Amino acid sequence: MASQVAPSNIVVGSIVWVEDPEAAWIDGEVKKIDGEEITIKCKEKTVVAKASNVNPKDPEFPSSGVEDMTRLAYLHEPGVLQNLKCRFDMNEIYTYTANILIAVNPFQRLPHLYANNMMEKYKGAALGELSPHPFAIADSAYRQMITEQISQAILVSGESGAGKTESTKMLMQYLAFMGGKVNNTEERSVEQKVLESNPVLEAFGNAKTVRNNNSSRFGKFVEIQFNEWGRISGAAIRTYLLERSRVCQVSDPERNYHCFYMLCAAPSEDVEKYKLGNPRTFHYLNQSNCIELDVLDDSKEYLETRRAMDVVGINQAEQESIFRVVAGILHLGNVEFTKGKETDAAEPKDDKSRLHLKTVAELFMCDEKSLGDSLVKRVIVTRGESITKALDPSTAALSRDALAKIVYSKLFDWLVEKINISIGQDSESKFLIGVLDIYGFESFKTNSFEQFCINLTNEKLQQHFNQHVFKMEQEEYKKEKIDWSYIEFVDNQDILDLIEKKPGGIIALLDEACMFPRSTHETFAQKLYQTFKDHKRFIKPKLARTDFTICHYAGDVTYQTDLFLEKNKDLVVPEHQALLGASRCSFLSSLFPPVPQESSKSSKLSSIASGFKLQLQTLLETLSATEPHYVRCVKPNNALKPGIFENNNVLQQLRCGGVLEAIRISCAGFPSRKIFREFIDRFSILAPEVLNGSYNEVTACKKILEKSGLSGYQVGKTKVFLRAGQMAELDTRRSEIL
Ligand code: ADP
Ligand code: MG
Repeated sequence: MASQVAPSNIVVGSIVWVEDPEAAWIDGEVKKIDGEEITIKCKEKTVVAKASNVNPKDPEFPSSGVEDMTRLAYLHEPGVLQNLKCRFDMNEIYTYTANILIAVNPFQRLPHLYANNMMEKYKGAALGELSPHPFAIADSAYRQMITEQISQAILVSGESGAGKTESTKMLMQYLAFMGGKVNNTEERSVEQKVLESNPVLEAFGNAKTVRNNNSSRFGKFVEIQFNEWGRISGAAIRTYLLERSRVCQVSDPERNYHCFYMLCAAPSEDVEKYKLGNPRTFHYLNQSNCIELDVLDDSKEYLETRRAMDVVGINQAEQESIFRVVAGILHLGNVEFTKGKETDAAEPKDDKSRLHLKTVAELFMCDEKSLGDSLVKRVIVTRGESITKALDPSTAALSRDALAKIVYSKLFDWLVEKINISIGQDSESKFLIGVLDIYGFESFKTNSFEQFCINLTNEKLQQHFNQHVFKMEQEEYKKEKIDWSYIEFVDNQDILDLIEKKPGGIIALLDEACMFPRSTHETFAQKLYQTFKDHKRFIKPKLARTDFTICHYAGDVTYQTDLFLEKNKDLVVPEHQALLGASRCSFLSSLFPPVPQESSKSSKLSSIASGFKLQLQTLLETLSATEPHYVRCVKPNNALKPGIFENNNVLQQLRCGGVLEAIRISCAGFPSRKIFREFIDRFSILAPEVLNGSYNEVTACKKILEKSGLSGYQVGKTKVFLRAGQMAELDTRRSEIL
């Protein structure tokens, strides 16, 4: 971020911040200025730096920091960082940047922030009146919905483990508190069901990863509907892209979805019923050494999940079926294949595998022979003739995993739909508050199709954020006819075009590749290289043969195309479809309803990326009809431990989330504004004569401002616009008089 103060302010003797490779920024005293070169004496070393890498340090920085970044005397990276760190060290994890809430994950329970009376305290308090808090954001959204009669959205973002889901839960808890009904009946209220949907979805959609012990492996948008009296009248949960591959593939030291371990730790009658036992005996779990978690008691979680399932309206019979299917998936994973004696055709490896296969058939309530066949045989139709082809052992294993994944992902979708039906929608609702908890920008050593979709989401949300923060700002200034030399607005439309333009974008090319049987990830990559040779946002890495790099708003990410084609194909193997559609378990067969004839024949490919793109489009349409609020979560360290604040790590996240950019924009403009009447009500005490009746609203405001001696503010058509920090200044004067 460019410094707001020209380095010419820096003289010999100034205390400044200078960039440092380890600590990001360190402070010291200027000893010498030699043209562009500045010599600075820091605590442990003397640094010679370019003037552009030096920022002035606020000599009067308050020891306890400031609650709103816009009150910092100097708004630059080191100042923002110092403020967050200083507050973090005092266990004050929440900080505003104008109306964006920054939440730094404390990795420990901080009771002072979530005491019982906290929600009561925040009720109706103006944003900024009390300490920064998710409750304040939720309250402000709720009140704006009531007073302005428009829908609201709260967008929670951040990288994995940054605290999105925890923050989301607090937001929902507050909305339930504000909009809940007094409920004396047996029937659970909408808000109870919404809150209890969390443990259910977490049991089936969360897992321990390296980045977070309870990582949500899906995106979630909860839409809470309100009636005209501001009472909750319905809700809907939409989920995005559950990570399917985790069902069959877990790398050390991560875990599979929580429900598998819970079920293995269930009361003994359940464990026996499903022929389970030690989780280490199951291939889908024992690929990783991590089975138990210190922070999670699986047997307790099992009972909690069952209880939460009761609350959200999943009855006993359905629960039985769900866990029977989950157990079936574990047994399925233990079916191994080997070559037959005479041919290469796969068959179950040994008695153990045959026994597991039999158990799967029992649990899935399907025919054992058909199950076995669906794993090792494929029917191919060519020129009207159907030929049965035997699969080799490794293809059979892939077929087995595909079956496990499709069953699990349908099970998850069923849960979401069931919860939605049970909560109930209010089709006549006047407005809604949506809360979005979705994966942040990802850039790893290897990035595959999942990262590609996740980063597309973030590009879209970033554009929405930009448009909101920047465009709305500008429009407001225009509307108020105040003078404003527009700040350049960074648009990422070019990246979005690269990815989703139709025809010709990366997704379109991927879908095309998936339709041609002879395409491989190599031909796909070649096609990308050719098509985007001159695209500013696309790079073919030197040496790479099938990788490609996209220059995202948050940085460059290199993707490995190896599994892009497989992962994009969204088809259920017809043999699996037929097998499970015929299951005697009505729950399972309902997950695989018969496919209408024409769609199975049609050559239209059903693609994950295109489906996801559509989902995102709908989401953004919903969002654009709302007034957005932002919570940016920050993960202070990768050790997931309390008390550690890593500067570089945090800065990187602030940059990716557009937080620094938003600060720059809002502070360069007029971050505080008040309509004339409110301004007069609040500050007439600074010029009491304006109340004597001879002033209209505009002149009264001008008079107050003149007397205050501030400069740089503007008076629009209906509002007073103040520069960063000026509202605070006026407030201080007001409180001195009061
Ligand atoms: P994300 O959804 O961003 O991946 P989570 O919300 O699951 O991250 O948070 C990860 C972990 O961090 C939680 O399981 C919890 O242990 C801890 N955590 C997050 N926010 C808080 C908070 N406000 N107070 C205490 N612990 C928190
Ligand atoms: Mg989460």
